[in-house]
Amino acid sequence: MPVNRFAVDIELRKDIWMDYGVEVKLLAITPDNENLLEMAGRICYASVGKLGISEKWLQSRIKQGHESLIEHASATFYIKASRALTHELVRHRIASYSQRSQRYVKETKEDYITPPELSEETGPEVVRAFHQAMSAAWEAYRQLLDAGVKPEIARYVLPNACTTEIICTWNFREIRHIIKLRTSPAALPEFQVIAEKIREIMRIQSPKIFIDL
Ligand SMILES: Cc1cc2nc3c(=O)[nH]c(=O)nc-3n(C[C@H](O)[C@H](O)[C@H](O)COP(=O)(O)OP(=O)(O)OC[C@H]3O[C@@H](n4cnc5c(N)ncnc54)[C@H](O)[C@@H]3O)c2cc1C
Repeated sequence: MPVNRFAVDIELRKDIWMDYGVEVKLLAITPDNENLLEMAGRICYASVGKLGISEKWLQSRIKQGHESLIEHASATFYIKASRALTHELVRHRIASYSQRSQRYVKETKEDYITPPELSEETGPEVVRAFHQAMSAAWEAYRQLLDAGVKPEIARYVLPNACTTEIICTWNFREIRHIIKLRTSPAALPEFQVIAEKIREIMRIQSPKIFIDL
């Protein structure tokens, strides 16, 4: 049953969420988005008078492939994750992004994502090697800065694991696309965690558009 599955999913996602230490926060969303999108769709069929009479009307349009109508609503998220993650995230092009700069901001704090797979599937030596590599990278970074090298050049020694912050705005069609692609087991595990959280938020915020995902 969909309702039970949803409840279980939220519980599972919280577990994964804690492990990666990433953050996803909804900052803004189109107000009254379900009514707005149904209005957009009903204009097409001259049936605005039937607005709100069927819970499943928007889901039926989506299933038909009439998805342009859900582009009229959008959401803005704050995401804190690794640079490895955001490199993949910004491949989604129907979007607006603003990301913490490594050219203008000094990354002096040794702040990085440790993939939980390292502790689960590998031994303590491998975990130690990972943290040593991080410390060595930051040590080199600080040496370069101390020598007068600009942050935009010194950052070349920083790892993919480096934590970053990004603000993302996507329309609902693109959010559905991202959820479908990135909750797949084929996606990067850190991206699966982010996409699961986005799915969780959107199913609560706009169930008429996201309940099937
Ligand atoms: C499991 C997985 C593995 C991947 N591996 C690699 C890899 O090894 N190397 C690599 O470079 N990338 C890789 N990618 C990234 C992938 O190729 C896409 O760049 C990324 O997922 C963005 O998705 P998209 O292009 O569908 O969607 P978006 O950019 O989010 O666009 C949404 C949709 O708009 C349409 N669209 C957007 N732009 C255009 C356009 N120019 N022309 C026509 N239609 C357009 C398409 O229908 C597209 O699906 C991988 C992605 C996944 C999920």
